[in-house]
Amino acid sequence: MSARLDCQLSGEEEETLQRHLAGCVQCRAEWVGLQRADAFFQGVTLAAPSPLLAGAIMARVERRATWMALLRGGMILSLAIVIILGMVLIPMAAFSGPVATVSSSPATVSALVGVIVRIAGILSTLLQAAYLVLRALVASPGIAAVAVYALGAAALVLWWVRVVAGPGSLTIRKRSW
Ligand SMILES: [Zn+2]
Repeated sequence: MSARLDCQLSGEEEETLQRHLAGCVQCRAEWVGLQRADAFFQGVTLAAPSPLLAGAIMARVERRATWMALLRGGMILSLAIVIILGMVLIPMAAFSGPVATVSSSPATVSALVGVIVRIAGILSTLLQAAYLVLRALVASPGIAAVAVYALGAAALVLWWVRVVAGPGSLTIRKRSW
């Protein structure tokens, strides 16, 4: 009978089986049970995965990608902040001694004012970059816009670092982002 389910019977064997089933109640009951079990397991194997599952997985992948883009943007931004803080703090520490003795000179004072104005400019640019990243975080309109925001903010900061440091004094090598 199981050979019959797998379509492995010859015509003669099939005929013999059918004849026996017609006359034997016990085998007929067994045959019906076997057919039911076969149909049940066929239904199980042919069941297609829910389309909701694919949607849920894709949504999860997309969320993860968005977070990775934000994380990358944040890392670039904090790297730029560290670089700029170093550029500001190291000269300040170096000049903290001589400043007391030369601050009576008007030329030195105007130079210091110029440095302060520059630092204020850098800080406002940094705030703008942080604002862009925050806005992308709050709105989260999709991975492409988030990536553009983060990269734009990072480019703005790096451009400023280059302008302040002067051409050639800071070489930005090719990075693999
Ligand atoms: Zn029988």
